[in-house]
Amino acid sequence: IYLLSGGKFLLMNFTGGSVDEIRRRYSGIRQSLREAEYEMGYKRLFTVSAGGIAFINDTSSLTEMLAKLMFTANTAKENRKDTLCLFNAREYALYLRALEIESAVRESIKNKFEGFTLLFQPIVNAKKVQKNGNPALPQIVVGAESLLRWKNEHFGMVGAGELIPILERSGLIVPVGRWILMKAFAQCAAWNTLFPELYVSVNISFVQILQSNLVSEVQIALERTMVNPKNVVLEITESGNIDDKEIQSILSGFSALGVKIDIDDFGTGFSNLRYLQDIHANTLKLDYTFIQKALAGDTKDLKIIEFTVGMAHALGMTVCMEGIETYDNMEKLLPFAPDKFQGYLFSRPVDARTFAKENLHR
Ligand code: C2E
Ligand code: MG
Ligand code: MG
Repeated sequence: IYLLSGGKFLLMNFTGGSVDEIRRRYSGIRQSLREAEYEMGYKRLFTVSAGGIAFINDTSSLTEMLAKLMFTANTAKENRKDTLCLFNAREYALYLRALEIESAVRESIKNKFEGFTLLFQPIVNAKKVQKNGNPALPQIVVGAESLLRWKNEHFGMVGAGELIPILERSGLIVPVGRWILMKAFAQCAAWNTLFPELYVSVNISFVQILQSNLVSEVQIALERTMVNPKNVVLEITESGNIDDKEIQSILSGFSALGVKIDIDDFGTGFSNLRYLQDIHANTLKLDYTFIQKALAGDTKDLKIIEFTVGMAHALGMTVCMEGIETYDNMEKLLPFAPDKFQGYLFSRPVDARTFAKENLHR
């Protein structure tokens, strides 16, 4: 038994090796602690978070082995607490990949954000789709959602699903988020010279709200790019923290700047109704998974869509349905009176030049 830093212990058994044995040891330790708590009348309960690795066939060096163990123990501590986690090679490989991406992203940021790009996906007017039958894109596009990508020699194209969590965990979303605001707003301003009604929406991460002065960052981006605030939308997701006074004041800060707020990913998180009231959002975006689940389900699932749209409208919001992949999807959803659609049926996210070529001519 070794004492490591920060209340951590390392237990090694050179004659053991099986996972079962690790489990037995862990239960033994917890059992002893419980008994001690009881016998000595402790006022506190102790938790034991442990990482285990059966290293019988593992030829790693001691340093690598310790790194694997620390990773596993941290997983136990962060995710579940008071449990034993066993080493998982796939999770560890993903973790190492994320660390490597993070350090390559740091380099990119230093090199003037080399490798970062914004793609744009059209948002269309669902009312016009209804009238025309077939979507003729330039006539029905009302906005563009900006979506982040990062390209690197070693990793190829890394999508938002993998990239954003890495940026959030490392705090790098703050500088990258600043870059995104500038790029997206500048693009919007450029398009608005010929298409004054078109809007661009930017996804905002909660980490940006918590770790930076986002209202002033948005204000600076508005001033520098000279975009009309009425043409930009900030997309934020629901969060358990929304009761927080600070977040409320940030949201009113955005309103004061004249930018709009959309609620993204509705139907995936808490779907807190109170939140909808408080946030004064412009549009409620129904998530891809929420929509597809309803389409695959029965009439009850579709009822949820119907009531969600009704509720949003009653609260003065418009509704955008995301993840529309087929005509069939669109036709099934039209009776629920959505205001906007977004999805592969109309277009995948594309670079700014392609977006203009395909959508911006009348
Ligand atoms: P989101 O904001 O809900 O964006 C919509 C996502 O759905 C995009 O994925 C888009 O490519 C995808 N999508 C659009 N139409 C369809 C469809 O018909 N079918 C399917 N299966 N998917 C469709 P993407 O670009 O990979 O982004 C994933 C998420 O990452 C975004 O979800 C957003 O939460 C986040 N994200 C993307 N860009 C940014 C960014 O610049 N900043 C921040 N903070 N988050 C971003
Ligand atoms: Mg979004
Ligand atoms: Mg969404």
